[in-house]
Amino acid sequence: MSTPMWRQYQAIKKQYPDTLVFFRLGDFYETFEDDARIAARELDLVLTSRPISKDYRTPMAGVPHHAVDSYVARLIGKGYRVAICEQTGDDQNKGLMERAVTRVVTPGTVVEPGLLDEKRNNYLAAVVIDGTRAGLAYADITTGEFATTQLSGEDAGASVRHELERLQPAEVLVEGTDGTRRNSEELRGTQGNLSASTPPSSSEFLRVPLSSSRFTPYPRWHFDLDTARRALLEHFGVHTLEGFGCERLPLAIQAAGAIIQYLAETQKGAMAQFNRLSTYSTAQFMNLDPATRRNLELTQTIRGGTVRGSLLGVLDQTVTAMGGRLLRQWLNEPLLDITALNARLDAVAALHADTLLRTELRTRLKEIGDLERLTNRVLQRIATPRDLLGLRRGLETVPGIRSLLAKGTQGSSVSSVPPSSSEFLRVPLSPCDDVVSLIGQAISEDAPATLGTPGVIAPGFSAELDGIHAAIKDARAWVAGLEKVERDRTGIRSLKVGFNKVFGYYIEVSHANRDLIPVDYIRKQTLVNAERYITPELKEYEALILNAEERIVELESRIFRQVLDQVAAVADRLLSTARALAHLDVYAALAEVALRNNYVRPKLTTDDVIHIQAGRHPVVELSLREEPFVPNDIHLAGGDIHILTGPNMSGKSTMLRQVAIITLLAQIGSFVPADSASIGLVDRIFTRIGAQDEIAAGQSTFMVEMVETANILHHATSRSLVILDEIGRGTSTYDGISIAWAVVEYLHNAPHLRPKTLFATHYHELTELANSLPRVHNYNVAVAEEGDRVIFLHKIVPGGADRSYGIHVARLAGLPRAVIHRAEELLQDLEGATRAPGTPARTGVELPTQRRPAGSQPEVWQLSLFAPPHPIVEQIKQLDINSMTPLEALNKLYELQRRLARQEEN
Ligand code: ATP
Repeated sequence: MSTPMWRQYQAIKKQYPDTLVFFRLGDFYETFEDDARIAARELDLVLTSRPISKDYRTPMAGVPHHAVDSYVARLIGKGYRVAICEQTGDDQNKGLMERAVTRVVTPGTVVEPGLLDEKRNNYLAAVVIDGTRAGLAYADITTGEFATTQLSGEDAGASVRHELERLQPAEVLVEGTDGTRRNSEELRGTQGNLSASTPPSSSEFLRVPLSSSRFTPYPRWHFDLDTARRALLEHFGVHTLEGFGCERLPLAIQAAGAIIQYLAETQKGAMAQFNRLSTYSTAQFMNLDPATRRNLELTQTIRGGTVRGSLLGVLDQTVTAMGGRLLRQWLNEPLLDITALNARLDAVAALHADTLLRTELRTRLKEIGDLERLTNRVLQRIATPRDLLGLRRGLETVPGIRSLLAKGTQGSSVSSVPPSSSEFLRVPLSPCDDVVSLIGQAISEDAPATLGTPGVIAPGFSAELDGIHAAIKDARAWVAGLEKVERDRTGIRSLKVGFNKVFGYYIEVSHANRDLIPVDYIRKQTLVNAERYITPELKEYEALILNAEERIVELESRIFRQVLDQVAAVADRLLSTARALAHLDVYAALAEVALRNNYVRPKLTTDDVIHIQAGRHPVVELSLREEPFVPNDIHLAGGDIHILTGPNMSGKSTMLRQVAIITLLAQIGSFVPADSASIGLVDRIFTRIGAQDEIAAGQSTFMVEMVETANILHHATSRSLVILDEIGRGTSTYDGISIAWAVVEYLHNAPHLRPKTLFATHYHELTELANSLPRVHNYNVAVAEEGDRVIFLHKIVPGGADRSYGIHVARLAGLPRAVIHRAEELLQDLEGATRAPGTPARTGVELPTQRRPAGSQPEVWQLSLFAPPHPIVEQIKQLDINSMTPLEALNKLYELQRRLARQEEN
């Protein structure tokens, strides 16, 4: 027969079979059975055991309650889920303590600050797919953000992948096959791919290298439309989802409903913060596919994956965590709406022009703290006393910021600032004095870090608490004065009042004075020389003093919860203030970056032209130490294709990326690194750059290159910007040139395409295209040769390049001298090989890119592929096979073969 506690544990564990249950037992959280084995292994805990019946001991491993966060964090980091089971009963003496799981921690639902990156959101996402439609919702329980969308069209799967790539959720819920859960040994989540329990349709769509995301199969019925809708209606207490804009988007409802149910299961009672759901459309944003995000190194570098060295690394001059998160979002969601963008630019410009205002604002913003996450901790009722103090300190800075903005630029010494610039900074900063004064009155300035130690609530806030403190103070004073009072009353000069742990307070009288003790003394203990007494009154005061801490802690906890409730009631106001402050922080950061790095405000237009004067690459320019960055101009009109040739290492890729990045910066509302820029808004930026290491995904480099190229040719529009850094390099030269050639022709001629295109290539043959296609223009990167030395000028000039200088770069890279010499010999040999039209390439030798000797005829240099067909091929074409007998056909074939053999002999 097992113990009642064990039966209680088993009943709870049964509900969380796929989760490690941390079961609170006094000062420890214990794990049992398989959970204990896993916890001991993963957390280096000692595996002990505990008797649960007469003849069975269960394996057990525990962690002290005050350190639970860091242990949970480690388990989540290793891919486990943890259910926290608390003691919920009040009185330990009445038999078995009540216990219940209060929250389940999963990667997408952590709130522990130690587990969170303060400058990025921690999203939980849900995806549901139905044929060509998909629903995707996401929520951040640390900020209360909750949004959903429905994606449709031929390539809904790709759109889902793009969204997941943009959001980088920590956890993604996908439909599981049924309600069954995995067994205890499979508790670890699936990282980066789907487990076998996921239906093939989802896994097809989601085969996406999300390095930091985990997929959680969630029983399918949660995604059911009716169940999901009901969950949302109930959660928001509404009759229709019309107000949230998703009533008519079933898949958006399914995904959002799954999230709400999952949160309700894992975050009992912490749902209040999700008080709105926004339905968004990906059409609001510039569509950036995962390859482009990676190639442009927007938020992390390709090598190393660090923020440092990425565009975000340069832009992130925010001083608050909220601002940092918002900037990252902006960078991932460039806008298409010129009015919204100009509003952002106006705000940045106002702060750019007014250095006093900007500096002062940034100084104040630094004091804010993470209002957004703090408010959400209040909403989840997990805020600590120090969190409330942090909230108060943050909110105290708001009035100063309000009046700073109201004053605007008045008093500024910068005369060029238009007087109305403060208008551009009108953000909804609500006064939050009520919360400031509530926290100020309620929470003691030097409150302990957590509840459970007295001293949380400030004096004067609660009459009841003050009463207890006063009574205790009285009691202490009474005890302190007791010795004198009793000496006077009894006349015993040696009478002493003392305290020990066993008997508490006592009055000690030596045996010699035993006759003088009053009648109300009660004897408690006899010593060698003295007698110890108590009085009923002394015992009363003693009880007051000894129980004081417990009573104070209990009352303070109650009052603290009431304060949290009061703050939570105005959380909406706090959150919108936090959001407004985050905006100010981002505007100020972008202004600061612009000023430090000499950026200008771009002019946004709806025409189809990108015109940049003296543009620079924002990241490369900061990385150059020895030489200055060479700025370059570009004028790219609708349908233009610029073919950029030039030596290796001359700066082709840099130029391509800088045009894409400047365009993108303009479309997040930032100033840009240039002398001037006029940007006709683009709907998408496509990039096909370099070789990505996709071996893990089982695709060859060339295959990846072609998949990316196909994506561009299928999806580009006349409003897109296409960046092609070498196409076809992953295959033989002829294949490569042919594909590149055909791609340029297609981009140029297909009426539905005609995007603005920048194409860097080593295939100089492609410069011929400019002769036949009117919107193809050649450019090259200028090089100066000084004797043996080659100097890259990094300047883009009109015309095609005539040499690759690949061997020069090989020399710079330190290839052995013998190899360099031999390569030079071979190059000369190959360049000397003039071929007549139609002659095939020499067997076994792949011709590298060639230099055309001055004055030679272009056709001599054309490749066989573009030369007229072989005469025998012409003859075959002209045969009328239908009118030939089989014998005639055979004879003809024989004759042709003979002619070919003769030709070869000659
Ligand atoms: P490859 O053909 O080998 O890919 P590339 O022509 O694309 O080379 P980049 O990678 O763009 O060359 O540039 C090589 C290096 O040249 C950069 O890392 C940078 O240090 C320098 N560079 C590029 N552009 C400029 C510039 N405009 N001003 C100064 N330095 C530059």
